[in-house]
Amino acid sequence: MGVAYRYYDLRMNIVPLFSDRKEASTIWHDTIHWWLDSTIKIRFVEIDDEYWIIIGSDSQHPESNMSFFKVLQKSENYERFKKGHGGEAYLRLGIYTKKSRKDVKNDALCDCGHAAEDHDEGDGDVCLYNDCNCKTFSSFQVNLLKRKKTITDIVFLEEKDVKEDPLAWNCLYVNKYSKLD
Ligand SMILES: [Zn+2]
Ligand SMILES: [Zn+2]
Repeated sequence: MGVAYRYYDLRMNIVPLFSDRKEASTIWHDTIHWWLDSTIKIRFVEIDDEYWIIIGSDSQHPESNMSFFKVLQKSENYERFKKGHGGEAYLRLGIYTKKSRKDVKNDALCDCGHAAEDHDEGDGDVCLYNDCNCKTFSSFQVNLLKRKKTITDIVFLEEKDVKEDPLAWNCLYVNKYSKLD
């Protein structure tokens, strides 16, 4: 679904997000579990306002190995990770759950920045602040799965440099260049 960046356990965490806990567990058990920490690679390829995140590794079970990628909008958290990771990060999976007004306590914050109690429960959950155009309370929660891997091979690339990086090149070739005429 996306990627969260969290500062946690003394290291930055890169957290690919899934909506389904079962799917995340399966991907961990079948693929990531078999990756040796020292061979895990993360590549970030920046293209205008977006970036590709590409995660892959050699596996002790090469026949069922997979790599992962996602094209995402650059964000503050991404920029913070880029500046602050210091060459090391934990990789762990996260479960992303959307919360509606009835799922949260009164002081929970909506994506609009106002608390749940400032949204009208009787009227489609609109935000009661006059200058706010939020029509429905919405918020989310990320639960991190416990298992983690330590990554030390983290590289930020510009698109013109991807040819020199096999993981990034393979990914962009298959998912971008080969689809262009
Ligand atoms: Zn709101
Ligand atoms: Zn609001």
